[in-house]
Amino acid sequence: MRPDTPAEHADSAAHVAEAERLERTAGLYPQDAEHLLSQAAAHLELAGERARASALYDRLLSSGAAVPLENPALVRALKAANLWEYGHEAEARAIIDGVRATAPRTPGPWVIVAEALEAHDELQEAHETFTRAATVLTGTAGEDPEPPQEVRPVLVGRHRVRRMLGEAHDAWDTLADGLHTGPVSLDELHDPKRVWSLGSDDPAELRAEISRLRAELGGYRQQLSRPFPVAVLHWPAGELAELVAAYPSLAAEYPSHEEHLATIEAALRELAASGTPNLGIVTATVPSYEAFAASEGAGPAEVSLLPQYATTLASRGRARPWPPAATDPCWCSSGRTYGECHGVR
Ligand SMILES: [Zn+2]
Ligand SMILES: [Zn+2]
Repeated sequence: MRPDTPAEHADSAAHVAEAERLERTAGLYPQDAEHLLSQAAAHLELAGERARASALYDRLLSSGAAVPLENPALVRALKAANLWEYGHEAEARAIIDGVRATAPRTPGPWVIVAEALEAHDELQEAHETFTRAATVLTGTAGEDPEPPQEVRPVLVGRHRVRRMLGEAHDAWDTLADGLHTGPVSLDELHDPKRVWSLGSDDPAELRAEISRLRAELGGYRQQLSRPFPVAVLHWPAGELAELVAAYPSLAAEYPSHEEHLATIEAALRELAASGTPNLGIVTATVPSYEAFAASEGAGPAEVSLLPQYATTLASRGRARPWPPAATDPCWCSSGRTYGECHGVR
């Protein structure tokens, strides 16, 4: 365990504060409680407040919830992973068995439970879980050369576990290799024995390699179980005109609609270039912005509210992923494809 530092305390306090803000928002928008409370729970997990996180997962899973859950298996999987992290192994395992038995049709729950098993050195079980997930989600044994984007974390996780188990490549592994883009190949990335095969006999190098693998696992978990989208606010032309007419001081922020759209694309490209994952665009409307300002006890003319409004819409699950495919409609609703509109290079 690392020693507690003041910086970590500040970090924990920020996570708890954000969790509480999200819980309040969930009170205002019960229809979005699943997104908001899952994210609040993730912040509590990051703050080390695991029992409080469990309570939120339980609240979502309780039968009295206002709206049926969109992805109950994902909430259960997150609950199990969290429980296991603070010593409730038996309960976690029982939930994991239950999640696997329902054979979810989305990759998230599979990946969360497989990674929980992997993190606790249950490599065989992690392997079986990833394999069942790949079978359920692709319905083939690796023949589909272009599996959906969302299935990739399953194939990559499975590849990682199989490398650690010393298994020979199968069709899915070859597929995972082919789909991987990055400076280092997946085989190199996933080979804990790499330094030995290169002739090294330095145990420190091996340990470094294993911690790098662990860090990669952490990275995937962060992306999947902690989906904090970074979203930029988009005002459609009519809404922007109405906004600026009602709150003229905001005209400094938004000189013209065209410039507003160009700024959105530029901001997202910059974030992407700096390696920020999970980017999106949220669409603003004047009434929803005014309601948000009122809920924060502030006036809509306050510029500092705009990014908070964007974050809140994103945490309510309102972000559309960016970038669209070049052949998909542009996010700005011009009617042109992204490749011919704001996606032009
Ligand atoms: Zn490979
Ligand atoms: Zn466009």
